[in-house]
Amino acid sequence: MKPGKVYLIGAGPGDPGLLTIKGRDCLALADVIIYDYLANPVLLGYAKPDAERIYVGKSRGHHSLPQEEINQLLADKAAAGLNVARLKGGDPYVFGRGGEEASLLHKQNIPFEVVPGVTAGFAAAAYAGIPLTHRDITTSLALLTGHERPERKLSSLDWEKLATGLGTLIFYMGMTNLKKISAKLIEHGRSADTPVAVVQWATLPRQKTLTGRLDEIAALVAAAKIEPPAVIIIGEVVRYREELRWYDNLPLFGRRFLITRPYAQATSFVALLQAQGAETICIPTIEIAPPTDWQPCDEALLQLGSYDGLILTSANAVDAFFERMNIKGLDLRALSGVEIIAVGPKTAKAIEKRGLKPDFVPNNYRAEGVVNELLSRGVSSKCYLYPRTEIARTLIPDSLSKAGAQVDSPIVYRTLAPEGKQEMIRHLLDANELDAICFSSSSTFDNLHAMFGEELQQLKKETAFFSIGPLTSETIRKHDFEVALEPENSTLDDLVTAMIEYYSEE
Ligand code: SAH
Repeated sequence: MKPGKVYLIGAGPGDPGLLTIKGRDCLALADVIIYDYLANPVLLGYAKPDAERIYVGKSRGHHSLPQEEINQLLADKAAAGLNVARLKGGDPYVFGRGGEEASLLHKQNIPFEVVPGVTAGFAAAAYAGIPLTHRDITTSLALLTGHERPERKLSSLDWEKLATGLGTLIFYMGMTNLKKISAKLIEHGRSADTPVAVVQWATLPRQKTLTGRLDEIAALVAAAKIEPPAVIIIGEVVRYREELRWYDNLPLFGRRFLITRPYAQATSFVALLQAQGAETICIPTIEIAPPTDWQPCDEALLQLGSYDGLILTSANAVDAFFERMNIKGLDLRALSGVEIIAVGPKTAKAIEKRGLKPDFVPNNYRAEGVVNELLSRGVSSKCYLYPRTEIARTLIPDSLSKAGAQVDSPIVYRTLAPEGKQEMIRHLLDANELDAICFSSSSTFDNLHAMFGEELQQLKKETAFFSIGPLTSETIRKHDFEVALEPENSTLDDLVTAMIEYYSEE
């Protein structure tokens, strides 16, 4: 059998955006993914859904698979004709034992490729605001391991040359030996006041950076209880951090938020928050499901052209409605002559994605806004179609019918409470690990409340509740919880802006 190919891929230091495009392409074609502790598991999302995923890193109480066995696993999978992605933290050829893996593949005549990655030391420097070389002060750079094989002592490093012959030094795996490393460097001629930065979990929202003089850094690290993984950057260039830091001073850096909307709609919100440095945890408290009965919607679709207007009040309704049209063999022509009304900009965008432009969006992005705008135009003896969720308010049909219009409001989707999320959320709340929970609709709160009932009051502790708008806030307050924040306009952009203001005032 023709063997498959093995791709040794550098996953980068943690921020998923730092994977290379080539690395992503190789992940997408692999049949088997073999990954490590330091490779961000989010990247597995690029793999084929049916690709086999094998974790070979350390986990609590378990040692990682011995290196020889990993080497052999790569060779065996490829020999069976499978394409293998070997995903390793940082760069595979920098303290990653990639050389050992490639050697065995070479010996066994298995074809392989190496896709470089952003190594932790370079990434840590960039995200901590430290240029590793600088024309004015440092022209050389060395990458070192602070944790050598037990049979070869740290003393095998040429300390004299390191201390005096080189500029910037980056130690990987050096945390346990930091005291020895700094003592040796000082002993061999590095100045005791050389600045040092220790960067833990570089490029991730939990990144921590500690700086100090070479003669005090070990004590500072011990006091701050900073643990691996961290890199140690030693040299005059560290002084630039003061003026060049840009990541860990972003407005929401170090804050952790729980996002409760469904994954499919969470991505843009997550991107907005991450751009401000925040850590986001997505555990949806609602799931979108089809209605139990499509008949009312299907009947409306049969006479779609006879409606004067189509009222859409959420991106979910847009998606459900247009997909149903498609299933029923209708295309956009069926809507010609029908006025299209979107409740707000997000709904409007969802409509535009379907190739249509809404005729109007009210100034007030709520059902009230839609009603007022329509009433001011006159609705008497007009016919509206309002595809909605099961639990929608009856404001639109009620107000328009009162004014003489006919409104058909078939259910096109339902929101359900997903199962099996309680434990994760309970843990986060109980450990007081969240700065806030963001609720983007009443149901995201209602379902969370239903999960815990009265216990939610005790569990909540210091976690703040942020709400997208007045209706959601009303639901939260109805259950006797405080709403810490509600933006003036009910959009995600405004919510993020309000969050930034909220923490800047704190
Ligand atoms: N091949 C990897 C290095 C693996 S050795 C690379 O090129 O980055 C493991 C060491 O890398 C850790 O002990 C730590 O020193 C460093 N490291 C890896 N990821 C890191 C991160 N996100 N932040 C800080 N250090 C990291």
